Amino acid sequence: MDTSRIPLISADSHVSEPRSLWWDALPASMRDRAPARIRPSEEGAWELRRHEDTDLTQRQRDAAEESARNQQNDVGYRLQVMHEDGISGECVFPTIGLYVWDMDDAALGEACCQIYNDWIYDTLEKTSPRHRCAGLIPTWDTDMAVAELRRIAALGLGAAMLPLRGVPWEYNSPNWTPLWEAAEETGLPLVLHQGSGHDMLFYRGPGAAVANLLATQSMAPRSVALLATSGTLERHPGLRFVFVETNTAWISWAMDTLDSYYDAFLANPGWVRPELAEKPSHYIRRQVHGTFQWDPTGLNNIGRTGTGPLLWGSDYPHSEGTYPNSRAVVQEQFGSLSEADATAILGGTAVRLFGFDPAAVATPVPAPAA
Ligand code: MN
Repeated sequence: MDTSRIPLISADSHVSEPRSLWWDALPASMRDRAPARIRPSEEGAWELRRHEDTDLTQRQRDAAEESARNQQNDVGYRLQVMHEDGISGECVFPTIGLYVWDMDDAALGEACCQIYNDWIYDTLEKTSPRHRCAGLIPTWDTDMAVAELRRIAALGLGAAMLPLRGVPWEYNSPNWTPLWEAAEETGLPLVLHQGSGHDMLFYRGPGAAVANLLATQSMAPRSVALLATSGTLERHPGLRFVFVETNTAWISWAMDTLDSYYDAFLANPGWVRPELAEKPSHYIRRQVHGTFQWDPTGLNNIGRTGTGPLLWGSDYPHSEGTYPNSRAVVQEQFGSLSEADATAILGGTAVRLFGFDPAAVATPVPAPAA
């Protein structure tokens, strides 16, 4: 099957926020603690650096590459890249902002989320129907989280981001209930990106940099296990969770593993709490999604998962992304699927989930005017 005419929506794209975004917008009392950059640590992980952690030499080095980085935040430049790469629409997430949950000061965290959310709305969301952008939810306090979720929904952002690992509470905590209710009411999908909400440094030493990436992806089935077995998905059927850049092969594994233990231990009175109307896999298939650039095993498992949970994404502009070869990468993975299955995974499901105007993303991005 030829996939070249199927509209591609990247369910995993990023902006590169200006390094001065937070420093410029925060009140003077918070400026020194403004997020400034993320950097690969020497031990094989990524970490957030604050303004106060960066010396003059680092700031000068950053400034030299800043205009190239910020080009990616210009809608005209992005559309040119999408034309070149065969992408019709993008779900857009931050880069530095993914690490916002590393901060422990609630007022600072809330301010940083709001600054990003207003900036991404003005920069891409309101200027382009081919972009649906996610806002950051300050989870330090439930009321704060609910208020910002409602604010970004009213503003017009397309999704709400939560940390991949629930912080400050795991995802079976009743403290999340008001947020689940608000998310159902607004209809915004909840997006959880690889690397967020936990220390990326699981391992040190030989192989650690690559092993740490597998380790962060393994947080996705763990969070899903809590959401499914706690009855959260059952009680809130309107919630949709999108696990971004975590691949998808684990979805069938989580379904089988949770179902088999759930069934086995139902016989022990009191062990399985709460008891659910259906098996865990029922709720996962209905309400959980994952995105991938390259995941042949996930595609091989759609007999078990259905196509609904799978979303393709390019991860532009990150170095592990598929730009500028997205069309070739897609053809290699999807050539043997049915056209209906490929169309759903490559964009159809993302259009519905993130609320794109279907007409705005039905055609390729035209070549820029000469
Ligand atoms: Mn990504």
